[in-house]
Amino acid sequence: MEKKISIILTSYNKPDLVKQAIESVLHQTYSNWELFVMDDHSNEETSAAISTYIKDHRIYYDNSFINPAERLKSTRYAVLINDALSRAEGEYITYLTDDTVFHPNRLSRMAEALNQCSEFDAVYSSQKVIHVNGRGTEQFHFYRFAEEVLDQAAFLVDHCSVMHRRSLLERVKEKFGSFWDEDVMHWNHGDSVFWSRLNTFTSFLPIKEVLDTTYKTPHSFQNTYQSLPSVLIDGSFVKGTDQKVYQLDRNKRKPVNERWHTLYEGRTVVIPDPFLFQYEEGFYRFKRHGIPALERAEIQSLPDGPPISRWTSDCVQHLPGRMLFRIERKFYVYLRGVLHPISHDVAKRFFANQKAIPISFQQIKQLPIGMPFYPVYDEIIRNLNITKG
Ligand code: UDP
Ligand code: MG
Repeated sequence: MEKKISIILTSYNKPDLVKQAIESVLHQTYSNWELFVMDDHSNEETSAAISTYIKDHRIYYDNSFINPAERLKSTRYAVLINDALSRAEGEYITYLTDDTVFHPNRLSRMAEALNQCSEFDAVYSSQKVIHVNGRGTEQFHFYRFAEEVLDQAAFLVDHCSVMHRRSLLERVKEKFGSFWDEDVMHWNHGDSVFWSRLNTFTSFLPIKEVLDTTYKTPHSFQNTYQSLPSVLIDGSFVKGTDQKVYQLDRNKRKPVNERWHTLYEGRTVVIPDPFLFQYEEGFYRFKRHGIPALERAEIQSLPDGPPISRWTSDCVQHLPGRMLFRIERKFYVYLRGVLHPISHDVAKRFFANQKAIPISFQQIKQLPIGMPFYPVYDEIIRNLNITKG
């Protein structure tokens, strides 16, 4: 008798890929499974794509109906997984994301390995990783090979390449207080945090075969999260999965009408939805049609900004705002009277086509230095107590 396997699929706004993911479960050579499709309040196209499959009595569908403003308060897929785990009945547990497909023998090979090797409570397999462009065309691919028994699987093994015994769950919860850690700081590596919890009880047994293929799209979190500072640079044009362009303006995201496309084309930064939704929506009050015309009196009522001083003088009082400057090999951006250090990676994302203006330390020594724009993710990883492979 085959042991039951619980598969937990997390889904958010990938209508075409999520269909492939579900079908890859339906095409398994192993039949005793249950599938939890945990949808994190996706758009209609995605829920419609999923709805065609939920007639199957082995598939359970759940929608979180999360409020967009709440998205960045926790690691969403960890919340969904914990919810499903509390209902999972399988003796073995495995995870799937909406941009991954299981190969047909994925469940049978893994169940077989766990059946045969009672000294291991978790197994993992090799994975094919395909990078695709916005139209879904392959750009390049590589493999993550499962070769060794792992005592530290964190950062080496993907979310979709593991199966473990359900019996581990109670032990994890007793020791750590929850199954998956829902803390938002782990958004980009929640699987690794969970593997390190599992590793306190078991090593991971390798299965050399490639048993899943995962797709990295331009919108996948790993791509869009890279080189983002915790506070984004004011004045930037940004967009999330729905392609709507916003300008960040004093901690608000303000929708920019397509009519203004010449302003934002070629300089809009794609950011993860949770990052976008942490900014409250605001509005520019433009007149309905055409370029807003200002009355002379309206212009006169605007306060004069400080003069931009001459470059030739030794000391500069003010620099033009939102421009990139360089002192030797270090970058800075000037915002509202303050000079902010900015890392090369962040500068590349936010000032893609801008050449940094060279200045000297002598010239800016008067100016206050503000909070730096460094990638938040590097900092989080440094503070984690698990090693990165
Ligand atoms: N996800 C989610 N809610 C969100 C964003 C993502 O549940 O608001 C899920 C998504 O469906 C996927 C997993 O989290 O199963 C990882 O997301 P993604 O594929 O974007 O990240 P990456 O592959 O870059 O790590
Ligand atoms: Mg993904």
